Amino acid sequence: VLVADALVLDVPTAAAPRSMHHYLLGLAVMSLLLTRDEPPWLHLGLPLLMAVSYLVLAVSPYGVPSALALPESIRLPGAWINTTLALAGLAGAVHTLQADLARRDSLQAELSHALLAGEMVLHYQAQVAAQTQVVGAEALVRWQHPKRGLVPPGEFIPLAERSGLMLPLGDWVLRTACRTLVTWSQQAETANLRLAVNVSASQFAQPDFVAKVQQIVQQTGARPDRLELELTESMLASDLEDIITKMLALKAQGICFSLDDFGTGFSSLTYLRRLPLDKLKIDQSFVRSMLTSPKDAAIAQAVITLGHSLKLEVIAEGVETQDQRQQLASMGCGTCQGYLFGRPVPLA
Ligand code: C2E
Ligand code: MG
Ligand code: MG
Repeated sequence: VLVADALVLDVPTAAAPRSMHHYLLGLAVMSLLLTRDEPPWLHLGLPLLMAVSYLVLAVSPYGVPSALALPESIRLPGAWINTTLALAGLAGAVHTLQADLARRDSLQAELSHALLAGEMVLHYQAQVAAQTQVVGAEALVRWQHPKRGLVPPGEFIPLAERSGLMLPLGDWVLRTACRTLVTWSQQAETANLRLAVNVSASQFAQPDFVAKVQQIVQQTGARPDRLELELTESMLASDLEDIITKMLALKAQGICFSLDDFGTGFSSLTYLRRLPLDKLKIDQSFVRSMLTSPKDAAIAQAVITLGHSLKLEVIAEGVETQDQRQQLASMGCGTCQGYLFGRPVPLA
């Protein structure tokens, strides 16, 4: 708003031309940088909008007719200051963009050998029923980077997706998770634990996804009925028939499916109606604000009721406090995952 105001009040005159619009160039570069993981309409649209505004303001004398122009004695030095600062801003933004690109390039190069170098690790977060009983875990990948330390998936999964590394990474995660299931099956206390694995959209879209999963399960000797695959709604936008066929083929082997982050995407009831799901995971955002926002509490309650009426298991994600756990329990959701019970930790 401030920028828009300034642009409107910055009425060009013959002696002191408009200058505020120069800031738009730096802002356009910055927005290109800040929206890099956003969809193309935003990532390209925002800088484009700024570039077009720049163009219009640069070539036309347009100004709000009723706007009071500042006295020339202020506007003349102002034009110098604005243009200089805007140029400095542009230089800074370009420098940041360049540094970011370089960092990404090196991160991508490092990522492609991280798998071979054995730098990927799986952490496991407990899923707990009836307050104390661990019924399973979710496998969450981390990158044990030699210099950067433990890199969370949010930082390298989008990169892996863009660079085609998600498929080998996803295979590795699944194989490692299956090996863990085999280890667990050898001890009575852990033999019945279920292990959930996140599946990415590109992985699931592969024509040979079903065969790949079957192959990994067979090769490792894991019990398929202990394996759970987590899907997210964002990956379901494509061919629903194909998704259902794949799910049914895997379910025939005993593998089960959960819908991750439920409530954040389209939350389409069609998915619930048509997909052969076993479980809904209530997204952590609802759990977080459940105690303070009656709306979020109502949504959580509705999701739990809906899930149960569809004969689905319901689990709450991101449970951090006893109060949250109690409220969820009173709403009928006894199964939870979150820091209250344990953070994601190495297998040992
Ligand atoms: P997600 O599947 O929804 O996983 C839950 C995330 O919430 C995890 O973050 C977990 O550490 C975090 N979390 C768990 N309990 C709590 C809590 O009580 N409070 C808070 N604030 N956070 C909690 P993480 O490990 O950083 O994973 C982020 C996302 O990365 C995952 O979200 C998942 O979408 C993706 N991801 C992780 N591992 C894999 C993988 O192997 N394959 C694929 N495709 N995606 C993965
Ligand atoms: Mg998950
Ligand atoms: Mg989730």
